[in-house]
Amino acid sequence: MPKRQDGMLQCNRCGCRTSLTTTNGTYFKDGRRINGTVIEKDVCANCFKDGIKSSMLPTIKPA
Ligand SMILES: [Zn+2]
Repeated sequence: MPKRQDGMLQCNRCGCRTSLTTTNGTYFKDGRRINGTVIEKDVCANCFKDGIKSSMLPTIKPA
């Protein structure tokens, strides 16, 4: 697992630093993007591919 830099979002499960935020209901009106409801925020993209929702945290979560 790569060493975590201070404050950097990193997955506590796999060490990946790619975060994923999913939104529901984003639409465009008059050429402007209007964001929908955030469903998942800052989950690990790597773990999400495996069907696991792992929240990414800027610090290591105490066990
Ligand atoms: Zn992960």
